[in-house]
Amino acid sequence: MKRRNFITKTLLASAALTVAPALGFSKSLENSNNLNRSAKFMAKYELPKLPYAYDALEISIDKLTMEIHHTKHHQAYVNNLNNAIAGTELESLSLNDLMKDISKAPATVRNNGGGHYNHSLFWEIMAKDGGAPEGVLLDAINSAFNSLDEMKEKFNAAAMTRFGSGWAWLLVQNGKLVISSTPNQDNPLMDVADVKGTPVLGLDVWEHAYYLKYQNKRNDYVANWWQVVNWKEVAKRFNEA
Ligand code: MN
Repeated sequence: MKRRNFITKTLLASAALTVAPALGFSKSLENSNNLNRSAKFMAKYELPKLPYAYDALEISIDKLTMEIHHTKHHQAYVNNLNNAIAGTELESLSLNDLMKDISKAPATVRNNGGGHYNHSLFWEIMAKDGGAPEGVLLDAINSAFNSLDEMKEKFNAAAMTRFGSGWAWLLVQNGKLVISSTPNQDNPLMDVADVKGTPVLGLDVWEHAYYLKYQNKRNDYVANWWQVVNWKEVAKRFNEA
């Protein structure tokens, strides 16, 4: 009996192998359709890679803060945004267009879409050796604020007077540089912003951005942060604005 069972099983197994290619084909087609479907609905946006190591900006921002900020906070904005827009008409918009019409979107899209836009900008406008503003960007800074130092003073004031969580911004409005701040994850691209324009520099003043190293001393964080501003990237954004 045991032997017969063994033979039966073996025969069944080889029969299964014989028909496997046909079954396997339709099965794998079905799987790839499912994958395409979930990729379309679940992952419109992805966490961007940092253009430097987590410890690259330690002169201003510690490694652990950078790592948690990027892999936990930013990742959560990306995941929540993807989930919130899945299967809705908002899914077909570019991130910039989503920002420009954000008043029509639910609060969760405003918070997490803004979070994704703002952090994607934030990582790029920082660098280990970010240089200094020059050329047309420096001219525009001097023309709007008299000097780089006065621009920094105004920006720092915007960062310090933003109560609670938010961002300070240097943005282009009608061809001119201006400074503003926004609450939560709002930004100057949004139609709900008090001061609208194209951001070229932004500073995250949520406590999660500085608390491990600076605790309550937001002013020290803001002052130190200028050492890691990537002025080449700011100039690029200014030229494109
Ligand atoms: Mn943040």
